[in-house]
Amino acid sequence: MPEQPRCWVCRRSEAEISAFADVETPREGEIRQQMSQVNLSRTDFIQSADVWRKGVPKEFREFDFKFVTSNADQFKSIRIANGLLGEIAVPTKLLGEIVEAKKLTVDWLENVAPVLRKGEGEVPGLGAFSHFEKADRDLLRRMVDQFEAKWRRRIGSDGSKGADPSGYKQGFEGLNLLDGLEFMIAAGMLYYDVQAQLLDMARRKEITSKPKRGIVAVPVNGYPPIPLCSVCVVVMREVYSRQLAVEPAVPQQVSAAPLVRS
Ligand SMILES: [Zn+2]
Repeated sequence: MPEQPRCWVCRRSEAEISAFADVETPREGEIRQQMSQVNLSRTDFIQSADVWRKGVPKEFREFDFKFVTSNADQFKSIRIANGLLGEIAVPTKLLGEIVEAKKLTVDWLENVAPVLRKGEGEVPGLGAFSHFEKADRDLLRRMVDQFEAKWRRRIGSDGSKGADPSGYKQGFEGLNLLDGLEFMIAAGMLYYDVQAQLLDMARRKEITSKPKRGIVAVPVNGYPPIPLCSVCVVVMREVYSRQLAVEPAVPQQVSAAPLVRS
């Protein structure tokens, strides 16, 4: 077996240099943190969903979901007469939590769903959706399609005027508080699935766009190519470009030198 090439400068082999240089990029680190944040938030969301389901008083279940959640603040001052039990204070803390969670998850998904459906447009924080692989874009579109088909509802409006050709309802249209809550919890889970998928796509894209680590033959200043590792190549280029930058000052020094010597 022939001796494996080593870098002419640092003497490291191909295997040594890839082990040394395969470090996480700042972007990879950022994505990794976002991924663990998504997992934590998903766990919180599932726990909260249970509290919300149990917390909605019977008296409120038939209220319109959109009406209640868009007027959550007003419910602070409203009390409902309830026969034997007297008045029931509306659980504003619970409503506030539901509204807040909806904003973070479903509202985001409503904005992004048209992009995922069409396969083009901007995904907040990740840039143009078209930069991802087609298979990945198709997978996200299917996730949205399947969710909407299951609920026979659009996550958000698809922007077209008139009745939806598929016969789907729009968002929370016509849902009471309890059913709306179930739709919101399901859409919230889809939000976390979409986030996790998008981040995984971004991570794979970042890894494949990293420069290859290894040893290449590089011609330096007209000499025959010498084996250099990817780390030393960068250093050599740096040195070489500095030499070029100071070149205009060199002839003077060179022509002055013989005079001193003679
Ligand atoms: Zn080297």
